[in-house]
Amino acid sequence: MDIKVAKFGGSSVADANQFRKVRDIVLADESRRYIVPSAPGKRYGGDYKITDLLYLCHAHVQHSVPFDQMFDMIRDRYLGIVDELNLTIELEPYLEEIKEKIAKGASVDYTASRGEYLNGLILANLLDYTFIDPKDMILFDEFGALDAEKTKELVEKCLMEHKCAVIPGFYGAMANGDIKTFSRGGSDITGSIVAQAVGAKVYENWTDVSGFLMADPRIVENPKQIEKITYQELRELSYMGATVLHEEAVFPVREAGIPINVRNTNEPDNRGTMIIRDKESIHSDTITGIAGRKDFTVIAIQKNRMNADISFVRRILSILEVNSVPVEHLPSGIDNISIVIDDAYLDNKLNKIVKEIREQCKPDSIEVYPNMALIATVGHGMVYTRGVAAKLFASLAEDNINIRMIDQGSSEINIIVGVETNDFEKAVQAIYDGFVE
Ligand code: ASP
Repeated sequence: MDIKVAKFGGSSVADANQFRKVRDIVLADESRRYIVPSAPGKRYGGDYKITDLLYLCHAHVQHSVPFDQMFDMIRDRYLGIVDELNLTIELEPYLEEIKEKIAKGASVDYTASRGEYLNGLILANLLDYTFIDPKDMILFDEFGALDAEKTKELVEKCLMEHKCAVIPGFYGAMANGDIKTFSRGGSDITGSIVAQAVGAKVYENWTDVSGFLMADPRIVENPKQIEKITYQELRELSYMGATVLHEEAVFPVREAGIPINVRNTNEPDNRGTMIIRDKESIHSDTITGIAGRKDFTVIAIQKNRMNADISFVRRILSILEVNSVPVEHLPSGIDNISIVIDDAYLDNKLNKIVKEIREQCKPDSIEVYPNMALIATVGHGMVYTRGVAAKLFASLAEDNINIRMIDQGSSEINIIVGVETNDFEKAVQAIYDGFVE
C-alpha cells in the first residue's frame, strides 16, 4: 500500500478544534500512516506560539527570573486541548517533569522541543497511533548538522515496525542523547526526512493556506493558486520571498523524487499545490508564479573594452568578498556590469566599496542606484513558449513602469527585472494582470 507522510503545522494543531480537523483528515485516508505535528501555533492574530513561550521560559531561567506564570500558560493550553477532546492521556506528569527540568537549567533545545513532544503525545492518543520520540531516530553529528545517513537508516528501521505512528517534528538528538532542534519552522524538515526514509508516495504538508499562490495576496487581490510547481521553480520563488516551507525541507524528498503536497487543514477539499521534480509533467504555456523583494542596491560599472581586461570582474568581486558582501545578481553587457546587492548585507559599506572599485578597477563610470526592488517571474513554460518575455515587458511598459535592470538566469525558468522600490507593487500587479487576467 502507498504511504503518505502528513506534517501538520502549528496553526493546524493550535487548539482542540484544529486537532479534530487533523483527526478527520488523517482518518479519511488510510495511507496517511506517519504523522508529524508541530507545536501549537497561533489561534488568532496576536496569540502566542507555544514554542515562543518555551524559549521565553528558558530565557527567564537564564536570568534567574521566575517562569511559573509563563509555564502555566503552556500548561493551560495543553490541558485545555486534552480536556476538550476527552482524551485518556494524563499529561500532568509530563508537564511536571518538563517544568522541573527547565527550572534546573535544561538546554534551550530541550526546552523548545517540548512543544512538539507534548503535541505528539496528544495527537498519538487522539488517533490511536504509536508515539515515537524522534530523539531515537533523528541524529545530529558533533557539529550540530543532521547525520542524514544514520538518520535515514534508523527512521526506516524503526518505522518498519509500526504501521501507523506520530513523530513530533522539529527535533532529534546528538550522539550523546542531548536533544537538538532544527532551526525555527523545522518540523517541515522532520516530515521530509520521514517521507524519504519510508519511501512515501507523497509528503503532505498541511498548513493554513491552500498551497502557493501565483503572487503575494497582499499585493494582488485573490491571486490564482498554483496547482503544480517544480522544485526548481519553487527555489526561485522562495529565494525571492515566497515562503511556505522551510528551505531545508525540500532536500530529502527532492532527492528521492517524492512530491510535496502543500494542503490547507481548514480547507481539506482543496487539492493544494503539488511540488514535483519533473518539469515535463507541467505543460504550461504561461508562468508559474511571481515573487519579489525590495531593498536592493545596484552598482552599475562601465568600462570601455571591459571584456579585454580579463581580471576586471575578478577584481570587482574580490572587493565585495573582502568586505563580506554577497552578490545577488551580476547582469552584464559588453562594456558594463551591474552588481546587485541585498541591502541587509551592505551595512554602511557602500561608500567604501565604491571607493575601492574606483581605485582598484579604474572604471570609466560607476553609478549607484539605491532603493531597487527585484521581481522574479518564474516558469518552465518560458523556455518553450515564444513571447513570454515580450508579454512581461509589455505589461510593465503599459503601466508606465521603468525597468532598470533585466536578468534572465541561465536556467531559463526565470526572468528578473529590477524596478524602483516605489514601483514594486504596481509592477507585480502589472505582470500578474499581463499573464493571468
Ligand atoms: N515549533 C517550531 C517553531 O515554531 C517548529 C515548527 O513549527 O516547525 O519554529
